[in-house]
Amino acid sequence: MPVKPGDPLHLVLLGPPGSGKGTQATRLALARGIPSISTGEILRAQQESDTVHGGELSRYLVRGELVPDRLVIEIIRHRLGDPDASSGFILDGFPRTSAQGEALDSMLALLQRPIDLAIYLAISAAALIERLSHRHREDDRPAVVQHRIEIYLAQTAPLIEYYRRGDRLLAIDADRPADQVYDAIVTGLAGRH
Ligand code: ADP
Repeated sequence: MPVKPGDPLHLVLLGPPGSGKGTQATRLALARGIPSISTGEILRAQQESDTVHGGELSRYLVRGELVPDRLVIEIIRHRLGDPDASSGFILDGFPRTSAQGEALDSMLALLQRPIDLAIYLAISAAALIERLSHRHREDDRPAVVQHRIEIYLAQTAPLIEYYRRGDRLLAIDADRPADQVYDAIVTGLAGRH
């Protein structure tokens, strides 16, 4: 769907852990004046601050397991209702399962604000392992990283087809320095809109 300059932009970023979603989401959000919404960040913040549910969340996060769909879907439903999201948004780390993708489409259909494009950061296994070995998050230990990649392949990768079928996919070669990836995203977005 064509978007006029200044129209709200609704984007999803897809890609395995370590593909650079967070970096690209932050930069694009700043350039477009829209919020970048990371479920991983929201969940880690809740894990720290919520004494009742924090422990339950930790069990998933530390093991690299996905948090149950109903929980993240509610987090997103709530977050998309915040005033800053009325000008558009970039979702980083959501959806991560087909059920989340469908829930997102239904909530946005009600608002008549569909996802314009899913940007898929495609990256080789070698580059992923190299990048993740330099991060120092609790869930970046090698065994957990391996598990997160397996979960990504089984649960999240099918979403690439979901968006491709709807002609809403922009695939970007993310096996390059961040600046080049960013330029490719901007060019790709301009070509689509
Ligand atoms: P990465 O993209 O590097 O895996 P994130 O910060 O996006 O890092 O996610 C970290 C963890 O947060 C995931 O391993 C998972 O446990 C949880 N998480 C984030 N987003 C979702 C989601 N949409 N559904 C379920 N769990 C999620």
